[in-house]
Formats: sequence, structure tokens, C-alpha cells
Amino acid sequence: MTDGKIWEVMLKLRVFTPWMVLKELNPPSFLRQYVKRKIRSLINAQVKAGILRVLNDDPPVFGFPGESVEKIQRKCNVCGKAFIPVQDSDQHCSDECEREYRKRRQRRAVE
Ligand SMILES: [Zn+2]
Repeated sequence: MTDGKIWEVMLKLRVFTPWMVLKELNPPSFLRQYVKRKIRSLINAQVKAGILRVLNDDPPVFGFPGESVEKIQRKCNVCGKAFIPVQDSDQHCSDECEREYRKRRQRRAVE
């Protein structure tokens, strides 16, 4: 996995969290930690060089100048609030909404 390949993915995504880059690269499991570290160090170097910007701190979102964090936000399907997914499977803005969703689903299954 070369820096060039990682950089290519970042250029394509424009706005991303580190896991989104990892998902695109989809390394075999024995390389995951190594690629994760590479992504981190490349992001840090590009932020320091002023090429990438930190768009959000927690969770960390990075992007090119002129891009906005809205690009990767999802809409919570319980409360409708926009949120940044911390992992690919995230469908809800918070633990509360996640619980509410499960409750509703259970109720539907009973009816
Ligand atoms: Zn919500």
C-alpha cells in the first residue's frame, strides 16, 4: 500500500474520516493496522502542509479547502438530525436514538 494510492482515495473522497479511506482501500486484515497508521501519518502531513483541513474534531473529519463536512453527514432516521458517522454501520445520531430505533423495531415485530 503506497502513499500514492492512499492519496488517490483522499482526492476522490474530498471529505472523509479515516475509516472511509480505509474502507475504500479495503486492505487484507493483516495489513489493516499498518494501513491505518499510514492513513493517519499522511493526513497529519497534509494538514501540516495546509493542503488538507480539519473540518471536525470529534469525530475527526478532514477535507480539501472549500469542502464542507455536510458532504459526509447522514440523517438520523429517528430524530432527523444530521450527524457524522463514526463507523460505516452508523444509522443514528446517538445512543438514545439507536435505542429508540431498536424499541420501535421490536414493537413492530410484536404487532
Ligand atoms: Zn437521532
